[in-house]
Amino acid sequence: MQDLERRALAVLKKFYGYESFHPMQYEVIEHVMGGNDCVVLMPTGGGKSLCYQIPALLKPGCAIVVSPLLALMKDQVDSLIANGVPAAAINSQQSEAQNREIMENVFKQNIKLLYVSPERLIADMDQWSSDMLISLIAIDEAHCISHWGHDFRPEYTQLGLVKERFPGVPIMALTATADRLTRIDLREQLGIGDAKMFIKSFDRPNISLSVVSGMSGREKLKRIVNFIEAHKGQSGIVYCLSRKNTEDMAKSLSALGINAKAFHAGMPTEKKLRIQRDFINDDLQVICATIAFGMGIDKSNVRWVIHSNMPKNIESYYQEVGRAGRDGMKADALMFYSFGDVKTLMSFANDSGQTMVNIEKLSRMQQFAEATVCRRRMLLSYFNERYDHDCGNCDVCNDPPERFNGTTLCQMALSAMVRTDQNIGFKMLIDILRGSRKSEIIAHGYDKIKTYGVGHDYSNAMWNAYLLQMLQMGLIYIAYENDEHLKITSYGNEVLYGKRQVMLSRFYYDNYAKKPVKKAAQSIEFEGDVDMELLEKLKLTRRAIAKAHGIAPYMVFSDKVLMVMAQEKPTTKAQFGTLYGVGEFKTNAYWLQFTAVIKEHLKK
Ligand code: ADP
Ligand code: MG
Repeated sequence: MQDLERRALAVLKKFYGYESFHPMQYEVIEHVMGGNDCVVLMPTGGGKSLCYQIPALLKPGCAIVVSPLLALMKDQVDSLIANGVPAAAINSQQSEAQNREIMENVFKQNIKLLYVSPERLIADMDQWSSDMLISLIAIDEAHCISHWGHDFRPEYTQLGLVKERFPGVPIMALTATADRLTRIDLREQLGIGDAKMFIKSFDRPNISLSVVSGMSGREKLKRIVNFIEAHKGQSGIVYCLSRKNTEDMAKSLSALGINAKAFHAGMPTEKKLRIQRDFINDDLQVICATIAFGMGIDKSNVRWVIHSNMPKNIESYYQEVGRAGRDGMKADALMFYSFGDVKTLMSFANDSGQTMVNIEKLSRMQQFAEATVCRRRMLLSYFNERYDHDCGNCDVCNDPPERFNGTTLCQMALSAMVRTDQNIGFKMLIDILRGSRKSEIIAHGYDKIKTYGVGHDYSNAMWNAYLLQMLQMGLIYIAYENDEHLKITSYGNEVLYGKRQVMLSRFYYDNYAKKPVKKAAQSIEFEGDVDMELLEKLKLTRRAIAKAHGIAPYMVFSDKVLMVMAQEKPTTKAQFGTLYGVGEFKTNAYWLQFTAVIKEHLKK
């Protein structure tokens, strides 16, 4: 093992209590330690924070972390301090005197990580570049810089200056939501065109995915209540389309005895903060929210997410779903989908500045909702990721449609695409395959190509459905920047040249009829023997400690750490210190309280 790796692992154990890195974390750390720029694309919960925190701890000086939201900064700083890492944030909510004191400490090299907003970084840049020893600059939620992203923030666009001002300092851009265009754009905007991209699979295998379509208001509510009852005592979020919907939903759920509250951007800040705090502290089980909720918190033990309406695009859907199960333990996502949702969303899209793009994205979302192929497969190919097996953890996999070998059929379409230089869209491709005599086809000479008319036995609707499946499975993709022409992926090429077979779902006209969806997946599963009674006691202890320190329970220890504790039952400081997720600082801070509870429990 290299010296660097040994040092990185020592820091990981000391401050975080973990024994090993998640996939790709060490590669990123090594790259940054070599003084290089990079872009890190990992799903929510993938462990992006450690990619910059470990180098920050290993290198002399202070790391600057750009973060878009105050709440997010606070969450990170609190978590770091709870681990014994000297971290701080500079922001407008603190007095200038406080901010000055923090800067003093940064100059004295007493702070390893400093969180700032983008506008603050730009405003104070001259001061910083001359006086501070900066170890690296991390830009979190970096997709905010791109117009292509779904969460564009004007303050981020100035971050292009950072590379000019700090030419020798490694820059790391991190995000969990970057489609192909955003990825490219992001590097350019930051002026780090050569930066290496680290792309980790966006799969979140621990989250089960289900969609229920065509339900009326009352049926839907009943289904939601059943679902929440099946997740007793577990935190979750119900996403709604409008502010009014969130309030109605919270009212209906409360009337049925569920501990739920509404949360939306129109509420007074004070109230929002209180609700958010209660949720984070496990005092409130359910939040009914518009999309405004969730970005500012890193609560790792959200166990489920419900979309009471279809979201406007797959990026939003996946990001919202991703708020569940960040700790890697089992979580459930359920989405409701109706024709009414499509109409509402279509009118939003029409009113937006980028109508074409938004309508296209909406229709991909709709295709996901109606999918007859594994939903995870479809999601991941949407993010241009190769995923060539069925997941076994979505409703389509659990209740599969009829399949047939569709290789030849796919080859017809792929071959027609090759013969037209991949310069045509969906409609034109179907016309060529079906041998249409449209003037556009004749004008381009497409009636002369070999594959013209080979698919005339299939109706327009059938081709539509099968091409959709090819798209959903990642054989082809739509190039939005290129007149929405269809392009073939590497996987598609393998199919075209006979290296891979493809199974398709047989298309019937009533394919999209309502399907019953199985009962929501069950609560947390854990290998091994967890003493449930002890676990409850440990949770109470965690809560008491969190209250006393003014931090969230999951910052004291995650659900997983408590489960390991309830399994291993440490009674000494030494045993406690070796547990998964228990670092040096937390050992010293908490071993007495937890081992006392365990000893007491063992006596009985
Ligand atoms: P992201 O920013 O990518 O959404 P985080 O950095 O917040 O993810 O990490 C998500 C969770 O995973 C956190 O609770 C973190 O402590 C945990 N985690 C990160 N890296 C590791 C690791 N190497 N071993 C165990 N847990 C880890
Ligand atoms: Mg993060």
